[in-house]
Amino acid sequence: MLKTLTEYEALAERAHGHLCAGQVLGLRMALYGVKLLGLADPAGADRKRLVTFIEIDRCATDAIPIVTGCRAGKRSLKFRDFGKVAATFCDLGENRAVRVTARESSKRRADEIHPEIPEQNRRQMAAYRELPDEELFGFEWVRVNLGPEDLPGFKAPAAVCAECGERVQFKREIVREGKTLCRACAGERYYERLR
Ligand SMILES: [Zn+2]
Ligand SMILES: [Zn+2]
Repeated sequence: MLKTLTEYEALAERAHGHLCAGQVLGLRMALYGVKLLGLADPAGADRKRLVTFIEIDRCATDAIPIVTGCRAGKRSLKFRDFGKVAATFCDLGENRAVRVTARESSKRRADEIHPEIPEQNRRQMAAYRELPDEELFGFEWVRVNLGPEDLPGFKAPAAVCAECGERVQFKREIVREGKTLCRACAGERYYERLR
């Protein structure tokens, strides 16, 4: 079952190390996402049908799995580094997905409704607890192309990169001119090798 926002805040504080406006916003964002999908028990009975994509690595990101139960290690939390406070909640059961974005105006709304709170983080926390979903977020229904290799439980033999010899799972290899390569050797390396 869904918990109260206060209960989620306590869990988020423990997981994230502190309670901040980003945590409250992330919890609200995830609650809105599962509400739009109509999932009553995302981390319990509905846990196998939810996959979440997050688009930023900031405070709000840590809060989202508190509500959804989605975890990177379970393959149900996907990170796409777009630098946006946004997340897409995919219901595998109904084969639909909703992308929720934080409104640019939410910080200004916090200033408007709680001018008496001098500290910005506390002012935003208060506002993010109170403002209706529609004032905090926009949403759009989207289609996410998820193959079986993207989902929890996918099993297939791993490939081996012809260049570096490292194992590549979940069909993340690239075949180029008949050669099986990992993404790094295919040119997507995010690190530079030192020697
Ligand atoms: Zn934080
Ligand atoms: Zn390689």
